[in-house]
Amino acid sequence: MIYADYAASSPMMPRALNKLTETARDLYGNPSSMHQAGEEAAEIMEKARRQCAALIHADPGEIVFTSGGTESDNLALRGCGRRRIAVSAIEHPAVLRTAEALAAQGRELIVLPADSSGVVPAVLPDAVDGDTVVSLMLANNETGVLQPVKEMAALAHERGAVFHCDAVQGVGHIPVDVREIGCDLMSVSAHKLGGPKGIGFLYVRDGVHLDPILTGGGQERGLRSGTESVPLIASLGEACAEAAERMNEDAARLSRYRDEIERELMLLPDVRRNGEGERLPGICSLSFGGIGGEAMTLMCGLRGLCVSSGSACHSGDERPSHVLCAMGVPEKYLTSALRISLGWNTEESEIPEIVRCVGEAAELLRSMSQ
Ligand code: PLP
Repeated sequence: MIYADYAASSPMMPRALNKLTETARDLYGNPSSMHQAGEEAAEIMEKARRQCAALIHADPGEIVFTSGGTESDNLALRGCGRRRIAVSAIEHPAVLRTAEALAAQGRELIVLPADSSGVVPAVLPDAVDGDTVVSLMLANNETGVLQPVKEMAALAHERGAVFHCDAVQGVGHIPVDVREIGCDLMSVSAHKLGGPKGIGFLYVRDGVHLDPILTGGGQERGLRSGTESVPLIASLGEACAEAAERMNEDAARLSRYRDEIERELMLLPDVRRNGEGERLPGICSLSFGGIGGEAMTLMCGLRGLCVSSGSACHSGDERPSHVLCAMGVPEKYLTSALRISLGWNTEESEIPEIVRCVGEAAELLRSMSQ
């Protein structure tokens, strides 16, 4: 099997995996308990908080552990309590559906359009004011296209709005500095950067007020009640440290592989790349005119290649991707997107195999439809 679906979820990096099992075995105390086992658990959790903060150049006190990207997005958008919510049209459903749910409760929803290259231009309508939260992702999960988050944060702040960034696909893959971006809130998920599933964090800039969405024991400074999963948190911290060490080398290597895959596959008839400009190193989205993305994914799967059509959230669902729709991608390429995403454990020898598998699948499906 060749795994090329890292944007859906990554295998765990070795140190993160060891930390998970080691901590689960040895540090079973509740970090709120005032005895040795509790203190040891609390200590490892605070080390992880420092590791998470270091990866995005934040202070440890600005990190709130959550169950992952979805919860972080919910806590940011719901917790900031603004009357208006301005989100880009290409956000992940964790942001889009949350914004829509808030709109159904009476908040005003503003959707910021994307251009044909997959970028959301840094422009805000007049309605954006001090009672607004603006949310723009760091990098899109379907196309990998990087977004002008620094410019958007500056514009949002000019209006007195709060700026949230869903950085789930970018953190651990490209350098991120919350101060340089000018972020108030940033969502991060461990399983996209080589850590375990079911854990992540929300960066909450010192001075930004949030109301919790969960009530209970008051853990995480009252922002996220519930006994912390110390093994998952420790493993997330280790993944952040490991990702930071590998980042430059992996980014150079993976962008080379990605470019090679694109170069080879775009030699095939009627293949279109979705997304232009600056992109994440490991993600590419290609549409094969006239072939369904689902069929391509299944055919690749039969050949032992794990890829996805558009994003994993669309699996089993041949509706066009909202991201490609927002980019104005021509009709025949809308449902024919294949996302190939590479990561830390991708090897150079797998690249020709990926190209061969996808090429054969496209040829076979084209011949069947003629
Ligand atoms: N935001 C983005 C951009 C994502 O790609 C994902 C996952 O695909 C999420 C949020 C949700 O993260 P999680 O799976 O940790 O809930």
